[in-house]
Amino acid sequence: MTETDTPNTAITTEVIDGKAIAAAVRKQVAERVVHFESARGRAPRLVTILVGDDPASHVYVNNKHKACAEVGIASEDERLPADTKPELLVRLIDELNHRDDVDGILLQLPLPAGLDDDSMTELISPAKDVDGLTTANAGRVMQGRDALVPCTPSGVMILLEKVGAQLTGAEAVVVGRSNLVGKPVASLLLAQNATVTTCHSRTRDLAEVTRRADVLVACVGSPKLISGDMVKPGAIVIDVGTTRGQNGLVGDVDFDNVHGVAGAVTPVPGGVGPMTIACLLDNTVKAAESRADA
Ligand code: NAP
Repeated sequence: MTETDTPNTAITTEVIDGKAIAAAVRKQVAERVVHFESARGRAPRLVTILVGDDPASHVYVNNKHKACAEVGIASEDERLPADTKPELLVRLIDELNHRDDVDGILLQLPLPAGLDDDSMTELISPAKDVDGLTTANAGRVMQGRDALVPCTPSGVMILLEKVGAQLTGAEAVVVGRSNLVGKPVASLLLAQNATVTTCHSRTRDLAEVTRRADVLVACVGSPKLISGDMVKPGAIVIDVGTTRGQNGLVGDVDFDNVHGVAGAVTPVPGGVGPMTIACLLDNTVKAAESRADA
């Protein structure tokens, strides 16, 4: 982590180094892989399913396989054409659910037209649902029970832990309420005894709510939505948002404006982003360990 003093203000803002924290998570995962392999005679295995030709999805899936190889997780890459019939995908997921050597199944979203993201995701066995997107895992997260937690929310919680956030009794504000990010982040914060408020597009006075936050998590997809005057001095600000702009990725937080107000803030890129794949690897090993122990 790096610390920089901002002139003309009393606040020193810590820039949370997601790359370094993600590297530490990957190192721990690699150690668990070695341990699993020596105990079980095989490496944990992830299978990705990519349907169609979306270029961004191809990049994401390739990155996931590269990351698996780096920590010793075995991975398989199932690719299907965009006009794949639902029955074929259903059969593939069913086969993978029944394969004993497969620990994690990742269905890359969004699926092409004709295939429903939610109903296809729901077919994945909850024990192998390393994206944490089935209703079984979502429900367990909401109930504060052990689960395969969605990767980005899990990454947010690790960043908060590493920065030393005191969550018990803290006012936490989550901006965004998607099933993928906002809702699980809110549930995880609640499980850590924060007082949680979730904002969304119909929230009446966003700034009035965000200014109360000791911990502010922005997961919207609206570039620079959160300015310095929306942040309580000293707050911890986690920026999940990523919008592709002309000069690369832009977060939901106006970093330069918030720097010098917040106590700590994640940059984009280099904050939450690197945590997501690290947590996917972590979930794959967790799924392998849990299945082996079951
Ligand atoms: P999403 O499904 O589009 O949800 C966005 C949420 O933001 C919705 O709940 C929406 O409210 C709310 N919202 C929109 N405009 C708002 C405004 N002006 N004020 C307050 N709330 C507003 O997006 P998502 O999948 O959660 O992703 C959010 C962002 O995180 C995106 O930029 C995405 O690219 C990024 N992301 C990053 C990672 C990573 O690894 N770094 C992973 C996942 C997602 P309503 O519900 O009322 O529509």
